[in-house]
Amino acid sequence: MVARQLRASGGMWMRFGTTQIHVDPGPGALVRALSHVPPCNPRELDAIVLSHKHLDHSGDVNVLIEAMTSGGFRRRGAVLAPPDAFDDGPVVLPYARRFVERVEMLEPSSGPYPIGGVQLFTSMRHVHAVQTHGLHFVYEGLRVSYLPCGKYFAGLAADYARHAPHVLVINVLRYRDDMNVDHFTWPDACRVVAEIRPRVAVFQHFGTKMLEADPRRLAQQVEDELGLRAIAAYDGYVLDLETEVMAAAAD
Ligand SMILES: [Zn+2]
Ligand SMILES: [Zn+2]
Repeated sequence: MVARQLRASGGMWMRFGTTQIHVDPGPGALVRALSHVPPCNPRELDAIVLSHKHLDHSGDVNVLIEAMTSGGFRRRGAVLAPPDAFDDGPVVLPYARRFVERVEMLEPSSGPYPIGGVQLFTSMRHVHAVQTHGLHFVYEGLRVSYLPCGKYFAGLAADYARHAPHVLVINVLRYRDDMNVDHFTWPDACRVVAEIRPRVAVFQHFGTKMLEADPRRLAQQVEDELGLRAIAAYDGYVLDLETEVMAAAAD
C-alpha cells in the first residue's frame, strides 16, 4: 500500500486545544500536512510521536523534525518514540535529534509523558518485529487511544480497556488470517472493539484485501452490531472529537 501509495501513509495530525502532535509520520507526512485545507503547519507542532520505527510509520520523521524546528534554527518541540528508534539502526537521525528540545524514549505501560495540555501514556508492548506500543492521549477528560500494528493476543484488549478510551483508532491491515503475520485481521479488530467498547472506533492502515472488502461497509456492520460509532478512515479524513464523541454519547 505504501509503495504504490494506494492509500496515503502520512500518519495522523492531532489537535487538542492549542497542543498539536504528529503521530507516525510515514512517507508523505509533510506533503500531506501542507496540502491539507487549511494546512497543518509543522512549525506549530509540539511533538512528534512514533508508535514504532517501521518505515510506514517513521519515513518522514526527520523531514518533520526539520520542518518543526525550521531546519534546526529554532530548537523546539519533542520527539517521543521507543528506544530502538534512536539506537540500533536509528530512524531518528542523530543530527535531527539535536534540533529538538526534548527526546523521550517511550517504555511500555508508562506515562504520563506531558505534551502541552496532553498527558500521553503507553500501552503494554505489542507483538511486532520492533518495539511497539499503543498510545493513550488524555486531554481535559477526553481520552483517545491509538492501537498501532501488531499481532492479536489475549490480554491486549484488557490493557487498552483500562484506559477507557472515548475514541479508539485501530490499525487493521488484513481482512483474513491467510498468512500468519504480525498484524491485526478484521475479526481481531472487531473482537478488540467489542471488548474495549469505545464510543467511537476508527479503523485505518488497510491492506489491499481490506480495501477490497469495503471498509465502510464493514464499519457499518460494527456500528449496527455493537451500537457504537464506527468509522473507516480515508485519506484526509478529519475526526472532530467533540462532535463525534458527543454525538455517540447522545445515542
Ligand atoms: Zn509495523
Ligand atoms: Zn504499519
